[in-house]
Order: sequence, then structure tokens, then C-alpha cells
Amino acid sequence: GRKYVLTKYFDGEPKKSDFNIVEEELPELKDGEILAEAEYISVDPYMRAYMIGYKLPTDMIGGQVAKIIASRNDKYPVGKFIAGAFGWRTHTVCNPAAPPKLGFLPLTILPDLGQHPVSLGLGLLGMPGNTSYFGLKEICMPKPGETIAITGAAGAVGSHVGQIGKIIGCRVIGFAGTNEKCDYLTKQLGFDHAFNYKTSDVKAALREGAPKKVDCYFDNVGGEISSTIMSHMNHFGRVAVCGSISSYNDKSLPKVTILQPSIVFKELKVEGFLVNRWFDRWEEGINANLKWLLEGKLKYEEKTYHGFDNMVDAFVGMMRGENTGKAVVKVKS
Ligand code: NDP
Repeated sequence: GRKYVLTKYFDGEPKKSDFNIVEEELPELKDGEILAEAEYISVDPYMRAYMIGYKLPTDMIGGQVAKIIASRNDKYPVGKFIAGAFGWRTHTVCNPAAPPKLGFLPLTILPDLGQHPVSLGLGLLGMPGNTSYFGLKEICMPKPGETIAITGAAGAVGSHVGQIGKIIGCRVIGFAGTNEKCDYLTKQLGFDHAFNYKTSDVKAALREGAPKKVDCYFDNVGGEISSTIMSHMNHFGRVAVCGSISSYNDKSLPKVTILQPSIVFKELKVEGFLVNRWFDRWEEGINANLKWLLEGKLKYEEKTYHGFDNMVDAFVGMMRGENTGKAVVKVKS
């Protein structure tokens, strides 16, 4: 097998030279163990933010969907697809009862997806899907008729949150980085409004898109736009602080802008969360999203990069906004 080992801390955008690709010997399977071959590996924003906490060199973290190609465990037969936090590696030997923890993804066997690709185990039916499901439901607690604002709206999490918002019966407005992404959100996914945050006046956009102001803000990006959205919220609004991608690559940016007056005077509830909080309810989220998918209520787009050697390009491309929906790497190009 082959794996990525991080040898330098990221400085600005990740670079190929921050990693070594290392060959590794695969051990013989012991009783209870499986050998899984990576089919799709995920590139996610948290990878950019998290590696600072690891001592180097270290195996690169990340979720993957892998096919079981050898097994000494009856519950995990050859041919099944699993999702797990195996990191950026082509082959993994493990006992599913004590899986690797190179990322935020409990080991699960994928359900039968019919005509849908198994890569959904990294997006709509995986960690981002559950981030959307639990983050919106548990932190924002939207009620029918309320207005939800979403930043990073065309990405894996944002596009999913907006669609759940519509299923619940809310007005949904999104902010994304290109006009094409905004068209996709309104024309394909049913968002009520979508604005290009790079070219539009966010205050004017909020007045137009949220005339009754914002009740729930699902924050994927942080920074200045979050302050502006919070200043356009209703009393007792709820903010789910999911991510702050606007600052992940940029050391020079202040990590906080001035938010406090809106929080106090509008009595907002602002709560950060990590999706692992709901690991014990993981199946609930997967099943809810799967049901909506099969009913045609949830749509998805993926940006597929090709080849294990192109992991870093995929990672950087996702951080730059090349993706609509979930960014994944198909391991064999
Ligand atoms: P996305 O699929 O949304 O991909 C990242 C997107 O971020 C890009 O496509 C780009 O879209 C946008 N982006 C990049 N730079 C900036 C910037 N400076 N300002 C605004 N937007 C930017 O990724 P995910 O859906 O996987 O993740 C979205 C967010 O959710 C991230 O912040 C991530 O850290 C967080 N997250 C948190 C979890 C948790 O447990 N709390 C779990 C999973 C994700 P555009 O063209 O619109 O700029």
C-alpha cells in the first residue's frame, strides 16, 4: 500500500512538498481483521485546520470509502463497501471493532445505494451529511416559516443544510463564491435566494433575501460576513458555528471580528459544534438523509478528482472553491 505522511506544517496553502508518499508493507490478516482498498478518499476543510495539533511526521488524516478485499471477519465480508477514518492511504488492515481514528468518521458498512455512487459515504451519507443534519436540527432548531441563512452554501455541508431547510418548510438564503454556484442553489436545490458573496453587497442581499430577517444562521465560513449576517438577525435567533474556512489558510487574518453587540442586543444563541458529538446517533442521521435521497428530496453534486497522486491538488482545489457539493478523490484514475 501507499500513504501520505505529513512532514511539514502547512504554511498558507498546503503544498505537495509538505508530504511524503510512503510505501507500506501490509501485515497478514489476524482473526477478526479485514483488508480494505480505498475507492474514494475525502478532502475536507478540517484537515487544513487540524494538522497543527499533531506531532510530525504523521499519517495524513481523512475519511475514505473502501472496498473489503480480504476478510477474517464474518460481519465484514469481501465485496462490501465501508466508510472509515483510514487517512490518505490506499490499503488498510484493521479490526473493525478498533478502527483507525485518522479523522472524524466512525467505521460503518455503507447501505445499498442503488444507482448512487459509493462516494456518497463521504458526503451526503457521511460526515458532511451528518454535520448538516445534526447541526441544523440540534443547534439551529428551525421552525417552518423561519428564515435560514447559510454561508459556504454550495459546498458539501451548505448545500445539504439548505435542502433540509426547505424540507422543514423554511425560507433559505445562501451565500456562495460564484454566480454558477448561486444558480445551482436556486434552480436545482430550491434555495429561495443565493448571492455571490464576492461580488454582492451582503447587507443589500440580506434585505432582499431575508425581508423578515434571519432566524437561523448556519455559519461555515466565519469572518466579516458572519458579523454582517448576525447584525441582520431576529431576536432569539440561533447561530450554528460549523466552520470558519475563511481563515484556515490565512495567518494574517484576525480570527474574530466584532460580533458582540448583535449577540447581546438580539439575545442570540451562538453555539459551536463538532459532528462527533453525535457519533452515538450516527445511523439516525445517515438513515434520515438516505430516506430523503431515495424520495428525491435531497440532491447532490460532487467534484471528483482522479488519482491517489493528486490528493494535494484536490485538497487545495476544494479550499479554493473549485467544488460544487462534495469534493472527493477517486483513487484509481
Ligand atoms: P465545502 O464543500 O463547503 O468546500 C469548501 C468551500 O469553502 C469552497 O468550495 C469555497 O466555496 C468555500 N470557501 C473557501 N474559502 C472561502 C473564504 N475565504 N470565504 C468563504 N468561503 C470560502 O466544505 P465542507 O462542506 O466540507 O465544509 C464546510 C464548512 O463546514 C467548513 O468550514 C468546515 O470546516 C466545516 N465543517 C465542520 C464540521 C464540524 O463538525 N463542525 C464538520 C464538517 C465540516 P466558495 O466558492 O463559496 O467560496
